Amino acid sequence: MNIARSSANPDAGLNREQFKARSNAQAEQLFRPAITDHMLRRCGQASADDPVLRQFLPASEELQTDPTFSVDPVHDAAFTRETGLLQKYAGRVLLIVNGHCAVNCRYCFRRHFDYAANHISPRNLERAITALQTDPEVHEVILSGGDPLTSPVSQLRRLSDALATVPHLRTLRIHSRVPVVAPELITDEWLDWLQQLRFNRVLVIHSNHAREFSSETAVALRRIAASGTLLLNQSVLLKGVNDDAAVLAELSHTLLAHGVLPYYLHQMDRVQNAAHFFVDDKRARALHRQLMQALPGYLVPKLVQEIPDRAHKIPL
Ligand SMILES: *Cc1c(COP(=O)(O)O)cnc(C)c1O
Ligand code: SF4
Repeated sequence: MNIARSSANPDAGLNREQFKARSNAQAEQLFRPAITDHMLRRCGQASADDPVLRQFLPASEELQTDPTFSVDPVHDAAFTRETGLLQKYAGRVLLIVNGHCAVNCRYCFRRHFDYAANHISPRNLERAITALQTDPEVHEVILSGGDPLTSPVSQLRRLSDALATVPHLRTLRIHSRVPVVAPELITDEWLDWLQQLRFNRVLVIHSNHAREFSSETAVALRRIAASGTLLLNQSVLLKGVNDDAAVLAELSHTLLAHGVLPYYLHQMDRVQNAAHFFVDDKRARALHRQLMQALPGYLVPKLVQEIPDRAHKIPL
């Protein structure tokens, strides 16, 4: 497959009607489509093979099921400590802040997740805080979702105020696709909230292709970095999006230009209805070796996979 390599968008993008016209109606029923205006502008006109569009466009391939893929590939359900609080790894807990994302990525490993029953609501926040108070081993809280940055600042403040009462917490990490897909949500009010947190702050953005970056994203990332927040990126290796060493290398260079270092390149979780994005392990390793040859070590993400029941993410 010929994948566009450069970060320049060749044209003015798609409008919502064009997106809708290309979308597969049956696949829409499996997982609600969602894309921001900002990301529509980053899509190429040319074809459904566009590396940005492919991530969000409901496609007929989703109708195929594969017996080796499942609805909960990372066993989230087994690691729930309290409603909305997951712990898989030592010292770090993950809070499901909400179930809403600015975009719905077709490869999402939580595309079948029951957010309604499993997120931190004002009602169960207290239980989660009590669990953290009594566990001095936990030094880092990860805000996840959904996308935690689609929540109103007032809600994030309520959450961070509650976390600040836990003395042994040192680091607040946020995983979000918002700076890339909806940079207009990085507001002055949100930056004020980020800046006044008492924790070490880490923001892991999720981007898969250099073409996702715009001048608006560049401004948002500069402002976040200026607040003293460490910026990292994680990507998912996706067939037809970034399964090409030149595309991945260009992504790393683009990240650095925006003050972001690559962190993880994830082998895709085997989530049902997304098998057409899967890149086999042999090819994934070969791509990673090519990256190691082409880039300085600090621009090579760790190639990892999530194996349920293991104590950390596993190098592939
Ligand atoms: C990936 C993940 C983390 C974070 O792992 P790091 O290796 O620290 O980035 C924490 N909790 C859960 C449940 C995860 O899936
Ligand atoms: S932003 Fe993340 S959680 Fe939301 S749909 Fe995309 S991959 Fe899934």
